Amino acid sequence: MSDVEQVPAVSPFHDHLPIGERLDASALTEGLPWAFDEIRMRPLEPMLVPEKPRGGETDPSECRPCMPSPGTIWQDDHWQVRVMSDPSGLPFMAAISPREHWLLEDAPMDVLAGLGPLMQCLSEAVKSIPGVARCHFGRWNDGSAHLHLWALARPAGMMQGRGAALAFWDDVLPPIPQEMADEHARIVAESLAVGWGEVFPNR
Ligand SMILES: [Zn+2]
Repeated sequence: MSDVEQVPAVSPFHDHLPIGERLDASALTEGLPWAFDEIRMRPLEPMLVPEKPRGGETDPSECRPCMPSPGTIWQDDHWQVRVMSDPSGLPFMAAISPREHWLLEDAPMDVLAGLGPLMQCLSEAVKSIPGVARCHFGRWNDGSAHLHLWALARPAGMMQGRGAALAFWDDVLPPIPQEMADEHARIVAESLAVGWGEVFPNR
């Protein structure tokens, strides 16, 4: 892919953008004043296509979510919930993905049908962690081609973590101790397994 020449993307939207300019970010500090005092944007970079392939996009045999992982805290026939190997700042964060290599574009209906019940149960499981008020879900589609969503635990009373700002706080808050991360993963896994599925299949 590295030898594919990238060219600027062309569309009416791209044509109206001030590429190269440093844009005013006050909409972020006014819109999310509970999280940001000041933000300085980098100059708007050229938007080149074709984009570099995502993980598992050109060679699904190298797709990480397709491989067994000790980070898998729960799975059923179609879906798995995984935590990262190193704790981060939020009380809990996990990826939800199909066990087989599906994209959102091609996942079969019998797989997709299991996502709603899993999101409902996972949200309740995350909220059962001490000190957690809400479970947020994010679907960012840029790192891995394999369909995945993120579940993020919003600490109780943390009004600075409302909405999309919560994902930034995960990198900013001090990482939680490994023992606490393990305990929170156990709480979520065992809560999910009350409904169905198995816990820690690769440990
Ligand atoms: Zn995959």
